[in-house]
Amino acid sequence: MTTAETTVFETLESNVRGYCRSWPTVFETARGTWLTDENGTDYLDFFAGAGALNYGHNNPVLKRALIDYLVGDGITHGLDMSTVAKRTLLETLRELVFEPRGLDYKVQFPGPTGANAVEAALKLARKVTGRTAVLNFTNAFHGMTLGALSVTGNAAKRAGAGVPLIHATPMPYDGYLGVADDLSWMRRALDDSSSGLDRPAAVIVETVQGEGGVNIARAAWLRQLAELCADRGILLIVDDVQMGCGRTGSFFSFEFAGITPDIVTLSKSIGGYGLPMALVLMKRELDQWAPGEHNGTFRGNNAAFVTADKALRHYWADGRLEAATLAKGERLRTSLTAMVEHFGGITTRGRGLVHGLVFADSSQAAKVCRIAFENGLLVETSGSEDEVVKLLPPLTITDDELTLGLDILVRAVDIVRH
Ligand code: PMP
Repeated sequence: MTTAETTVFETLESNVRGYCRSWPTVFETARGTWLTDENGTDYLDFFAGAGALNYGHNNPVLKRALIDYLVGDGITHGLDMSTVAKRTLLETLRELVFEPRGLDYKVQFPGPTGANAVEAALKLARKVTGRTAVLNFTNAFHGMTLGALSVTGNAAKRAGAGVPLIHATPMPYDGYLGVADDLSWMRRALDDSSSGLDRPAAVIVETVQGEGGVNIARAAWLRQLAELCADRGILLIVDDVQMGCGRTGSFFSFEFAGITPDIVTLSKSIGGYGLPMALVLMKRELDQWAPGEHNGTFRGNNAAFVTADKALRHYWADGRLEAATLAKGERLRTSLTAMVEHFGGITTRGRGLVHGLVFADSSQAAKVCRIAFENGLLVETSGSEDEVVKLLPPLTITDDELTLGLDILVRAVDIVRH
């Protein structure tokens, strides 16, 4: 890293920047599971663009589709005009994602980011039900716009924004306070008119809280939640922005629980190539939008539609990616379990290819990430206290790369724990 370049980041770019502090180098190229900095040093990526790169960097299959589209002068910016790229994607979603799962969703393109999808989902739920409250869970993360922040159960993330949670109390998440599979507190609060809780429009939940520290909702708990919502006419929104697109071993992260959310938000890896794109999926009867009622200049990123379509066709036409993700996830789980048994004082949890190593405090987790970086591995922390090292490699990672990353991680943990 040259001084001049350091200076321009420090003098010109806002103080808000974060990742460059954890990984103090200047990256230049990336391919598959690897990033390379301007000095030619390679880094193994166990971070995958915060979940946006499930198919790896510059995936060659997606790159070819993108190049061909651009060379042919395909529309890149399309607002919500009908385009060939969008029609192709919609048909592919129906054929490869919805029909095989018996889902009857309509599709909204809310704008480029996960937060755009969350905003649209919240607004739709309020509009359809005529109610305003939305229940969310402790340690939830739904995005940085003000509406999304208002359902983000993390005071540090909301700090300074001046938005209170849009209900009175964060709801306990599965396993929180050691209470497993128990929604009785929530049921009581909803049924007790003196609780001060208005009947909510919706409940928004991540089946695995990514930013919240790899907190995993159990299938039985999710089923109870879905039933509770259905009983009381509350819409269930699953925020699959980070855990969707195969991260947990199935295309949608809620499939293992056998539930069908009323509304689903997707972003990050749905574009396939790291291109900004988001979707809101809503049960057919919920599509009560009037034309133009919700919009956004960048809701028609047709280049992303092309790579999204290619990713679905290439990776989701058969069960191979799911099987490979589960197999690699199992390897990861076995290795991490051995690691925590060996070192003590840490625990692990995960599903599919998202796993966490939970340390006693944030300084240990930060040190592991720093030492990992110095040895060529990119991992980041998550959790309410940043005490969890989150492992989120591309789903296309090879067995050798997984082994190499785990070796670097073991050495880092060894240094920190001794
Ligand atoms: N929901 C979840 C579950 C997320 O993990 C994130 C991003 N980390 C978002 C929403 C917000 O997405 P974006 O940063 O693209 O706005």
